[in-house]
Amino acid sequence: NKDYKKKNTNTNIKTKKTTSVDLNNLIEKHFEFMKNITDKDFNIFKLKKLVGYKNVLPLMCHFIFKILGLINTRIIYVKKFNHFLTDVSQGYLETTLYHNALHGADVCHSLFLYITNSNIEEVCQTSILDLLGLVISAAGHDLGHPGYNNNFHVNSSSELALTYNDISCLENFHTATLFKILRKEENNIFEYMEVNNYKQIRKRIVNQILATDMINHAMVLSCVKAKISEWETDNNLVENKNRNFQFLSGNEKTKFDEQQMMLNYLIHTADLGHNTKKFEISIQWVELLTEEFWKQGDTEKEKNLSISFLCDRNDVDVPQSQVGFLKAFIFSTFDILVKMFPSLHFTLDNANNNLKEWQSLLDQKRKRT
Ligand code: AMP
Ligand code: ZN
Repeated sequence: NKDYKKKNTNTNIKTKKTTSVDLNNLIEKHFEFMKNITDKDFNIFKLKKLVGYKNVLPLMCHFIFKILGLINTRIIYVKKFNHFLTDVSQGYLETTLYHNALHGADVCHSLFLYITNSNIEEVCQTSILDLLGLVISAAGHDLGHPGYNNNFHVNSSSELALTYNDISCLENFHTATLFKILRKEENNIFEYMEVNNYKQIRKRIVNQILATDMINHAMVLSCVKAKISEWETDNNLVENKNRNFQFLSGNEKTKFDEQQMMLNYLIHTADLGHNTKKFEISIQWVELLTEEFWKQGDTEKEKNLSISFLCDRNDVDVPQSQVGFLKAFIFSTFDILVKMFPSLHFTLDNANNNLKEWQSLLDQKRKRT
């Protein structure tokens, strides 16, 4: 790092330090198991059993960064990387059943599968900085999640709702939490980054985490759908499979915005990624999410608030809600992904199988009653 001029020091603040996990030891010990992260059926719950909750995200991110070539002294301050990962993992609440560090690590893993099994980088013409921003966004996108959704915060006029004026209050909070972690002296992996690069990566990360609010689902999808239609009407492009052509036209600003639209779509897709993993894994995520929702519903009842969608434990039929969620959100999201990147068809295959499994559980339940 000798060549660097310190560029980004004004944001450093000294705070009480946490002890970094002994990542080097963990890497050595679990190297064989971690080699399986390239496997589409990689079981993150097994990894948690093996290494313990708090180590999953640092270990997962270390391997993903390594394989994608992001542990690179040209772009991050490598010495601070382990500490940063430790603090991101600890910035999640383990008591939150679904939106904890395991989900953060899983979203990184889904994204990693999409990137390594397709030509996303070529199509989106992403730089190494974009890729870095994307994986960091995935790792930190639900930081500090308290286990209560935006609807609850708005209805209860919580501190977060007041702070962020009811607008994507959780996602604003996750983003701010991530940047507060980053600005601690011991975590500032961006410390030596050129100011313009820092501005760019910050812009990307803020955009990407805000895009994970489900309220933006339709908009995120419609932008990408419009781009696909352009491609499809240009027969020449389809024939040549030269789909990155569009990003080369236009000025720098247009290119940046079009890339942002794709990056937002990719993180949103990865955030929903567990629904397209094999049933044995997907069902475990659904159980955790359902319990988190129901806990919120219990609090809403206690506080005499209206009970949020899917949060009433006395009213929700899980198989039915899952058939509904897959049909309403998952197929529309992943149809686009597979249209753009046919090599990612395994996601849709799994979603189709999950639909069959939930439908069969629903049929069995109906027969019994
Ligand atoms: P995030 O909160 O950032 O993880 O955004 C994803 C959101 O999608 C979750 O909070 C849930 O509201 C929703 N979601 C994802 N998977 C499911 C599912 N299988 N059933 C119901 N809602 C889901
Ligand atoms: Zn999430």
